[in-house]
Amino acid sequence: KQRGGNGYRLFEPEMEKAEAVIRRIELDLHDAVRNDELVLHYQPQVDLRSGQITGVEALLRWRRPDGSLMAPGHFLPVAEETGLIVPITEWVLHEACGQLVRWSKEGLTLRMAVNLSGVLFHRVDMQHMLTEAITTTGAQPAQLELELTESVLIHNADIVNRQFKALRELGTAIAVDDFGTGYASLGYLSRLVIDRIKFDKSFMDRLESSETDQTILRSMIMLCRNLGIRMTAEGIERPEQARWLAAHRCEEGQGFYFGRPQTPDRVEALVRASLPHWHQEMEGMISPI
Ligand code: C2E
Ligand code: MG
Ligand code: MG
Ligand code: MG
Repeated sequence: KQRGGNGYRLFEPEMEKAEAVIRRIELDLHDAVRNDELVLHYQPQVDLRSGQITGVEALLRWRRPDGSLMAPGHFLPVAEETGLIVPITEWVLHEACGQLVRWSKEGLTLRMAVNLSGVLFHRVDMQHMLTEAITTTGAQPAQLELELTESVLIHNADIVNRQFKALRELGTAIAVDDFGTGYASLGYLSRLVIDRIKFDKSFMDRLESSETDQTILRSMIMLCRNLGIRMTAEGIERPEQARWLAAHRCEEGQGFYFGRPQTPDRVEALVRASLPHWHQEMEGMISPI
């Protein structure tokens, strides 16, 4: 009992410290958009048949006054709770669309994937927000793909599906992120209007050790193909994983193996490299260019 009491007293200041950190983030985050502290990095998505980069995913970072970059997992939950996610997403869409236009002026045509939080669909009209970003930048809506996680889709199916229709009318594609972590079945997802499924990184983590996971992944690839849904495997870190996926006809891959989230000029250099490093590593799997 005595120790339990002590434990409790030790626990409380820890909680207060954690809450203080969150309050600090909340305060600073209010100024982050205005002070131009948000940054997008872009991670390549690769066609596993040709080895070409077909698109990028925009991933948000926060450059703190001390120069460090904060990962989205640390501040997005606060942004969602406080509603700051709305101006942040406006900024993200505007920046990502602006980058598409800058690339296109340099002769680079890529698909741009942007992540959306589920809370947005309850707070704002996403078609309106997207239209705003498209018209002010001049980006092509058909080059955009919006990523929503599997759990967001399950828990907000009605409201999200209603807004999906409007978004797809603009020509924008919808992708299911982190597929395989929740409880959505492919049958359920086929009733929503979705264009792409992204297999969660956890499949890659278990690929070499679990035959069951290989079987599941193979079946998901087949099902996607039969349902006419595009597919991307996330979290590819090693050439063996990329080779396995290519051999089993997964269309696209994304992961540190192909490239980390990086600045636009680095992505551009990678796209323009005539033979990216993975061409040699995946020899026999992808056709030479
Ligand atoms: P996500 O959309 O599933 O993005 C993939 C995450 O996995 C990214 O983390 C990326 O850096 C990381 N990743 C990619 N390839 C590999 C790999 O091979 N190995 C490992 N270990 N990790 C890999 P990040 O950038 O920290 O983003 C985390 C999550 O934050 C994203 O998951 C997404 O859900 C969310 N997020 C990022 N940017 C935004 C945004 O602009 N808006 C919203 N609403 N959410 C965002
Ligand atoms: Mg994503
Ligand atoms: Mg993901
Ligand atoms: Mg994720």
